[in-house]
Amino acid sequence: MARKCWAYSTGKCEGKMSGEHLFSKGLFDGKNVIVSGFMWQETGEEKTIGLDSITAKILCSHHNNSLSVYDTEASKLSRYIKEIEFLLQKKESTVYKKVIKKEFAGSNLEQWFKKTAINIFINNNKGALWYNEALADCPPADIVTSIFDNTPLLYPKGLYTWQKLGDKYDIKDTAGLMPLYNNKGLYAGAIINIKTLSFLIWFDGDQEPPIKSPSSVYRHSPGFIIKNPDPDKRKGHIVITWPNDWAKSNH
Ligand SMILES: [Zn+2]
Repeated sequence: MARKCWAYSTGKCEGKMSGEHLFSKGLFDGKNVIVSGFMWQETGEEKTIGLDSITAKILCSHHNNSLSVYDTEASKLSRYIKEIEFLLQKKESTVYKKVIKKEFAGSNLEQWFKKTAINIFINNNKGALWYNEALADCPPADIVTSIFDNTPLLYPKGLYTWQKLGDKYDIKDTAGLMPLYNNKGLYAGAIINIKTLSFLIWFDGDQEPPIKSPSSVYRHSPGFIIKNPDPDKRKGHIVITWPNDWAKSNH
């Protein structure tokens, strides 16, 4: 039996059900995504899944096609992270500038994290429910609407990251996803890693995300990520911009 489109609640489905890559393929040179933290896994267990194997018919053609702008933004971010890692390892005498900086559209990125968290939850839920007790393939309508309207969520919902990052990383060409549950044990968000950066997307408006980073600033609607905090060393800046001073007005 064909699954229904997870954006069915918008009432705008068109076309046949189509295969959506659960984790956009354009983000990686490699072939795997690592998932951990699902209820069917042991604590600390990681499972590696091939990107090619994780497409699922969970969106109609219209809604699938509408998401491609977000895939593009996330792919750009992924490529830039790799570029920064490469440039930071260069000697100072090279022709490269000391500060490398690039801007990304925060709202587009947030929608990508939201739809990816939905995709993976539908595919791996094994009976778990959304924070509002809906079945996995019926994500909350306000979240779905915000994705297709390209609207950022209001605090405490939304996109978070760890602002300061150390200077030693392995460049892993993999992605990771760990689901997060609210205080009732219901699905309410995820930590999603793109190469060496970690982001957190949170859906439950009744409580803050349950995980904070002990060593660095944890913030809503991230605006600025600096790689390599050492002042004498080359820096890479990732600037995430938001519409109409969104980040300022929603803390
Ligand atoms: Zn649809």
